[in-house]
Amino acid sequence: MDLTHEIEKRKTFAIISHPDAGKTTLTEKLLLFGGAIRQAGTVKGKKSGKFATSDWMKVEQERGISVTSSVMQFDFDGYKINILDTPGHEDFSEDTYRTLLAVDSAVMVIDAAKGIEPQTLKLFKVCRMRGIPIFTFINKLDRMGKEPFELLEEIESTLEIETYPMTWPIGMGQSFFGIINRKDRTINPYREEEKLSLTDDYTLKEDHAIEADEAFQTAIDEFMLVEEAGDAFDLEKIATGDLTPVFFGSALSTFGIEEFLDTYVDYAPMPTPRQTKAEAEVEPTDENFSGFIFKIQANMDPRHRDRLAFLRVVSGKFTRGMDVTLARTGRKSKLNRATMFMADDTETVNEAYAGDIIGLYDTGNFQIGDTLYHGSKVEFEELPTFTPELFMKVSAKNVLKQKHFYKGIEQLVQEGAIQYYKTLHTNQPILGAVGQLQFEVFEHRMKNEYNTDVIMEPVGKKIARWIENEEAITDSMNSARANLVLDRYDNQVFLFENEFAMRWFSEKYPEIKLYNLL
Ligand code: GDP
Repeated sequence: MDLTHEIEKRKTFAIISHPDAGKTTLTEKLLLFGGAIRQAGTVKGKKSGKFATSDWMKVEQERGISVTSSVMQFDFDGYKINILDTPGHEDFSEDTYRTLLAVDSAVMVIDAAKGIEPQTLKLFKVCRMRGIPIFTFINKLDRMGKEPFELLEEIESTLEIETYPMTWPIGMGQSFFGIINRKDRTINPYREEEKLSLTDDYTLKEDHAIEADEAFQTAIDEFMLVEEAGDAFDLEKIATGDLTPVFFGSALSTFGIEEFLDTYVDYAPMPTPRQTKAEAEVEPTDENFSGFIFKIQANMDPRHRDRLAFLRVVSGKFTRGMDVTLARTGRKSKLNRATMFMADDTETVNEAYAGDIIGLYDTGNFQIGDTLYHGSKVEFEELPTFTPELFMKVSAKNVLKQKHFYKGIEQLVQEGAIQYYKTLHTNQPILGAVGQLQFEVFEHRMKNEYNTDVIMEPVGKKIARWIENEEAITDSMNSARANLVLDRYDNQVFLFENEFAMRWFSEKYPEIKLYNLL
């Protein structure tokens, strides 16, 4: 079948990393390898493209956040690979998390000198909870970094995942000789052209001076140990995210990328099924088109208030101009204006298949989590909400603008730009976010789109916990109750000052069952 054939060719992933680990560089090199762009070096430059007309995105630009263009597709070895960007800055937003809901696998980039860093850990946890396969690229081997075993140990203990090195480095920094490819036992040298190969006895097949080198012998001994005592290869565990294939390389020198891509396309899953609200699964190869919106980029053009809604195709085939129904409202429309992104430019899509991401122009009809379908009705399960870590009290500067103020908040909350809370008795609005940037975007959009200046007052970093048994909260918990707020669905939420305060509370009131969102 034509449809099945197209869908089996698709691989959709996000890169997760901490800023500066080399995500942008790796993305450029992957695209270069795939032949999607003629020249690398354009990914960051994309900020100067069409999207730069967007006003609020200047906020992102001023803060030096990379690659706002969110999705790119390239071809490799007969596969169509979609890379989704996860904004990589201290102040990343809920969009970053939600991107992980639209992919089938993730690539974790680690700086060999730094190991696991906080942002990697946060994003990793979301991948783990979703059980998606994770591939690890340990970058910057051309510089001195941690020892390979130390890095593997760190991944295994910090992230609680087994590791399976697909390549093994020989030396690093100045003395970086190259990598051993475990699949075919070839050695790809960093500075020379000719590949070498290892025999089953871990000696070189070729005559080569390197054999007498101490660093080389150490690497061979380590490699032997990995093969004999390392975690066993297990495709099933890769598929469930319990074992990560690990690659070593240098994105900057385009080294180790091909080994990575070759293996990635072999082991990464094709588009996976998604759950509906009715707890059925929609298979990617279902004939009928369906998809869900996981991100809305608003105000692409300030004159038109355009939005671009990003839709992950879950099943079937999208064709330009097709009739679709918005499951939430039952409204039908024709999808005429959809775009897809190559590295350099956006182009109108005529066709897209399960696994692909398309951008839909929107004038405010879509919300995060919306399902679009053709044919018989499906509605995908709601996207999870993420536990915010930052809070701001917010009010309208001009009290006469209350109506605008609340309308703006309502829409931005629905759109998923920010989370809404209020104090228990006084109904003081409080905004919650996972990244500082969300507040800045909120403030900017309230002014520009809803003509409302806001006053924001930091409540600070808090630990938010929902309550399983709200009925157990009593008036006698006086001081603790002062920390309660309501979320947008009127659920009670505790905002604790810090870990210590939360532990103190749990010890004092063990009957109250707390939980956090994803
Ligand atoms: P991002 O913030 O994760 O997107 O990281 P970038 O791709 O922008 O890389 C951060 C810095 O590390 C840049 O100066 C890159 O040139 C540099 N870099 C990336 N990959 C490598 C590498 O393999 N080796 C070395 N030495 N530097 C690298």
